[in-house]
Amino acid sequence: MYEFAVTPAVTQIRRRGVEIAEVLPGTIGAELELEPGDRIMRVNGRVVRDYLDFRFQSSGETELTMDVRKKSGEDWELNIERDESEDFGLSFEQIVPRQCANECLFCFCKGNPETARPSLFVRDEDVRLSFLYGNYTTLTSITEDEMRRVIEQRLTPQYVSVHATDLDVRAYLLGIEKDRADISGKMQRLMDAGIDIHAQVVLCPNINDGEVLRRTIEDLAALHPRVTSVAIVPLGLTRYLKDERLTPVTPEFCRQTIREVTTMQRELRVRLGKTFAFLGDEIYLKAGTAVPSRRHYGEYPQIEDGIGMVRSFANDFEKLVRRIKRRGAPAKSLFGTIMTGTLFAPVLSEMIQRFNDLHGTRLHVLPVENDYFGGDVSVAGLLTGGDFAAARNRVRGNFAIIPRVALKSDDAILLDGMRFEDLKAQFEVPLLAFDFASLSSLIESGSIEESIELTKAA
Ligand code: SF4
Repeated sequence: MYEFAVTPAVTQIRRRGVEIAEVLPGTIGAELELEPGDRIMRVNGRVVRDYLDFRFQSSGETELTMDVRKKSGEDWELNIERDESEDFGLSFEQIVPRQCANECLFCFCKGNPETARPSLFVRDEDVRLSFLYGNYTTLTSITEDEMRRVIEQRLTPQYVSVHATDLDVRAYLLGIEKDRADISGKMQRLMDAGIDIHAQVVLCPNINDGEVLRRTIEDLAALHPRVTSVAIVPLGLTRYLKDERLTPVTPEFCRQTIREVTTMQRELRVRLGKTFAFLGDEIYLKAGTAVPSRRHYGEYPQIEDGIGMVRSFANDFEKLVRRIKRRGAPAKSLFGTIMTGTLFAPVLSEMIQRFNDLHGTRLHVLPVENDYFGGDVSVAGLLTGGDFAAARNRVRGNFAIIPRVALKSDDAILLDGMRFEDLKAQFEVPLLAFDFASLSSLIESGSIEESIELTKAA
């Protein structure tokens, strides 16, 4: 689900140049009298298609010529001199994502309710967003132009959904012809040009598990170090995705997968000196098994795909507990509710209970069911406004917290389109959207009033 990483634009209409969205006062952009709505068409004679092009073509240039189409329709040619480190002070329109031409069995678009907002149906497949935000592409429809661009502009790393190196299985999963499913030549070309690749497998029971998965991991490991890591995440079924070719992921399936992959992880660690194949947190949580240690995750290469988030959270929480212990408990008498998805709730609850026992706080973890998507969707990031609202009567204490990740990254809006302000209005106590840093500040200060003030200021 890429909702939080891409612009909600659904249009395929592309205008030439890149539009300026904002000009900071006191910068070169302001001195040049550039304004929001103006379009930069060329830099040093080279066409600009989006802000990545602008960044690439202007980076390191101290003297440059810029062709601008003003909002008024006038064309300007600007000759600019600047210090290398001097910023233009410009921000640009978002990138309109290219869309894929696949028909994946498990596509998240098929798992949305019909009434979901249009942005949830955007099937982005865009190497630019892959580089910028870690969105996965399948490389099946990458054009020659895009290929050259990735290489020339060094858009590295790229995140590639491989799913299976067995071509019959990959073609079946992607719903395309076998020859289109074969991306080995494209991957090789990227790797030969120095582009790193993080791979992903969406694990579907009875399709790309077992021997197919083993071979996929082996084939990808043979491409290490250019293929840097592979993330194996479980298929997620909503109540709307009812393809009978798909089998739900069960706790027993997760336990079996952990057994099989752990053996390979050990062998690969000896061979490559690091963890190469990572299992998604959901697989451990569903199996009822502890997530691996900090060492296993190294530099957390696939954290954008949710790999290692539980370990990272648990370690940060332990550090917080130690910090509070050293400084002498300021946690006073916090009494409130932390809402999260049903998958993470038992783990969080255990951590919070230990904290309560140590410091006399009364923090309560409330598992929230995902009724919007239904099925086996149980992660915090896919909870909607309606789901939190339905749980409001189970809130205890003087405040309630929802995970910040349930809001859109650039707007206080939830996945079902409910505004956070409207959700807050349905609660009798203050409602806050927190990430780990804000939760730590609350626990350390022991003051909900301070947290509310800080949230307002932000
Ligand atoms: S690549 Fe597959 S999962 Fe991704 S958007 Fe396209 S059809 Fe959906």
